[in-house]
Amino acid sequence: MSRFFSSELSGIEPYVPGEQPKDRKYIKLNTNESPFPPSPDVLDAVTREQTADLRLYSDPTAAELVNALAEVFGTDPQNVFVGNGSDEVLAFAFYAYGEKGFTGPDISYGFYPVFSQFFGIDYSTVALKSDLSLDPCDLINAKGSIVFANPNAQTGLYLTPEQIRSVVESDPDRVVIVDEAYIDFGGESVIPLTKEYKNLLVVGTFSKSRSLAGARVGFAVGDGELISDLNTLKFSFNPYNLNRLSIVAGAAAVRDTEYTAKCTAEIIRVREWLKKELTDRGFEMTDSMANFLLVSHPGISGKDYFQRLRERGVLVRYLGDERIKNCVRITVGSAEQMEALVRETDNILAEVDK
Ligand code: PMP
Repeated sequence: MSRFFSSELSGIEPYVPGEQPKDRKYIKLNTNESPFPPSPDVLDAVTREQTADLRLYSDPTAAELVNALAEVFGTDPQNVFVGNGSDEVLAFAFYAYGEKGFTGPDISYGFYPVFSQFFGIDYSTVALKSDLSLDPCDLINAKGSIVFANPNAQTGLYLTPEQIRSVVESDPDRVVIVDEAYIDFGGESVIPLTKEYKNLLVVGTFSKSRSLAGARVGFAVGDGELISDLNTLKFSFNPYNLNRLSIVAGAAAVRDTEYTAKCTAEIIRVREWLKKELTDRGFEMTDSMANFLLVSHPGISGKDYFQRLRERGVLVRYLGDERIKNCVRITVGSAEQMEALVRETDNILAEVDK
């Protein structure tokens, strides 16, 4: 740290993203990316002409992408905000609605407390139950604005739209942010509820179900006034937050709903297969509705399992948080990737059994 760094920021503990290894080709199951390429329409949309146009600034309203999202979600463009990944969208939302603090689950997306620290926001947590599920009543009694991922990050456990409605309705004077990064893998989105409630902001990403993690495209849907708040911040910080290629790629991806549905159906099929295979081998896990499983095994520590998989060329995520320190998080990839994971798991279990 230089001696010039703001003393207010000197204590910040940055978010640690999952490893993006360059040294070796791993079966990469550590950051919940899609194993499938983007829609063929995306590949067609990013043309040489589009690339040549990079000399020009991008559209600060990202209208092509906003309109595509509005069309697909059956809402108005004025109810849609887009950002450089949902991380940026969440950052704007934290900054906008953090005055009275935020509350989120004690196990969830690790960036929520980091944003809070960054913006000097008071961040409180509610404890997940012993089965790692989230009790909506605990959120109802919480203070300040509310944030949670649905399905929840790390656990994949899911609240129904009616449970979320009860949280949103409990206090119309606070904002509830529902982070739907993983909603397309079997859950039901609460985007339709944004038409009923002025205090609900739903955040989504193109990084998982739409295979565009590297394009950095995220969005929020909500009441026009909430969206206008986010635009006020964006236009005070980085008006061209989406680059030209990501705008066209994102618009093509969101319109190809058939391709997204095909990819997510396959992930769900493989996830359920993997649940059974790992359960048969003595693993315990939450009943994830996301594109990952959080698993533990009585015969091997989470850290050891992670390391042994890594040595065998399979990269999963060891999170290390106290309550899930014996678990690893495995991204659900293609059927072949999962077969390789199960094969290596069998080898590891045979080794530790000796
Ligand atoms: N929310 C949750 C719950 C996530 O797991 C992630 C990805 N790690 C994000 C948001 C951010 O996704 P992105 O910035 O790629 O849109």
